Amino acid sequence: LANKKTVIKTDLAGQTLVTLRTLTEENPAALATYEKLGGYAQLKRLVTEQVKAPEIISQVKVSNLRGRGGAGFPTGLKWSFMPRYYDGTKYLVCNTDEGEPGTFKDRDIIRYNPHQLIEGMAIAAYTLGARVGYNYIHGEIWQDYEIFETALAEAREAGYLGENLFGTNFSFDLYAVHGYGAYICGEETALIESIEGKKGQPRFKPPFPASYGVFGKPTNVNNTESYTSIPWIMEHGGQAFADLGVPNSGGSKLFSVSGHVEKPGNYEIRMGTPFKDLLAMAGGIWKGRQLKAVIPGGPSTAVMPASAIENATMDYDGLSKAGSSLGAGSMIVMDDTTCMVKTLKRLSYFFYEESCGQCTPCREGTGWVYRIIERIVNGKGKMEDLDLLTDLSNNISGRTICALGDAAATPVLSFIKHFRPEFEYYIQHGKSMVDGK
Ligand code: NAD
Ligand code: SF4
Repeated sequence: LANKKTVIKTDLAGQTLVTLRTLTEENPAALATYEKLGGYAQLKRLVTEQVKAPEIISQVKVSNLRGRGGAGFPTGLKWSFMPRYYDGTKYLVCNTDEGEPGTFKDRDIIRYNPHQLIEGMAIAAYTLGARVGYNYIHGEIWQDYEIFETALAEAREAGYLGENLFGTNFSFDLYAVHGYGAYICGEETALIESIEGKKGQPRFKPPFPASYGVFGKPTNVNNTESYTSIPWIMEHGGQAFADLGVPNSGGSKLFSVSGHVEKPGNYEIRMGTPFKDLLAMAGGIWKGRQLKAVIPGGPSTAVMPASAIENATMDYDGLSKAGSSLGAGSMIVMDDTTCMVKTLKRLSYFFYEESCGQCTPCREGTGWVYRIIERIVNGKGKMEDLDLLTDLSNNISGRTICALGDAAATPVLSFIKHFRPEFEYYIQHGKSMVDGK
């Protein structure tokens, strides 16, 4: 890998590179590249100077780093849940199982900057007293898994992983786990079950992984982007990271922009950046068309009509005030030729297909919802179907073991709320108001 020249096709103008900071270099994934940029210096400093865990956790709290997998839970607070004193093995897990439509940021981190993730995990392991770590990588991205394996081998060889690091009593072993490709394995407790070799199905929470995780032991689970932010925070201080963003949303953040834009891709920008600036970075709406709607954080976040998002800022509070949420930052952009009824059919099929089947409201409800929307698209819808869809979705939401149930309900409720006339037209005329088919 270190000898391979990687061609980067990214326009970096206007971005603030924290997790993808090697992107400007020729061989971004190589250990030598990362070391040249100061990589692993923070791990070495913290371990050799024996910096105390509360001090590190306090910097992470000050940074306002919130979980980048989608839920936005404060990372420093989560770290403080791990028991300090525990007579047994504690574990660390990285969730690189992004699987929602439109999510593709974490794979770029392991593809272009795997060593910063490894350093972030090693710092977390040192802080939380974890002896063993796993990076669970989505099953459909084999090539990136291999890049991560290569980086692990380099880090072991260089003495950044393994026994008695830097001559101290700190030891940390990190392994890559190739996932099975199921969306539900990205839910942290299903992911833990999968690591244990079982079928990937969510567990009830509580207990949370901090008290009952891998093999029933205390486990800290964070997203790839969250761990990868840690070395930067240790180098520059928590306040510097917080200052990159806005109150309540520290740092810069990767946004995966897809759909009807001229330049789809990942953009790492400061939290609080206006939506309009991000859209401009992505080349604007393609083919000279108009913006119709945006799903700002992945399909489990509510769709927003153009009027709601146009003046919004890309951060937790900004998107929440505008009527949706930041989620994992997977922004799906739709132009004015998009039929919202057909789009909802596609999204509903995804959740129906990916339900693990444990809970009745999710297992039965997602299929029921999909079949109603399919009926509407086939020209056999009834006007009362819209209320039935709303009622069904409200009865799935909040009544399931994991967040997939809520996620499945969100597009249905938000699409009907904002684009009801399109649904009514489809039912009355048996065809789309937008494309006439
Ligand atoms: P959650 O709010 O239940 O938990 C978030 C994190 O905080 C978890 O790690 C959880 O263990 C921890 N936590 C929460 N309360 C705690 C407590 N009281 N004590 C200890 N730990 C606590 O959310 P979730 O179900 O883990 O994730 C749902 C989110 O995932 C959604 O908002 C969605 O945006 C996102 N998502 C992302 C993808 C993707 O592909 N990236 C896919 C699906 C969903
Ligand atoms: Fe499985 Fe759906 Fe229940 Fe989650 S909500 S545990 S995916 S059936």
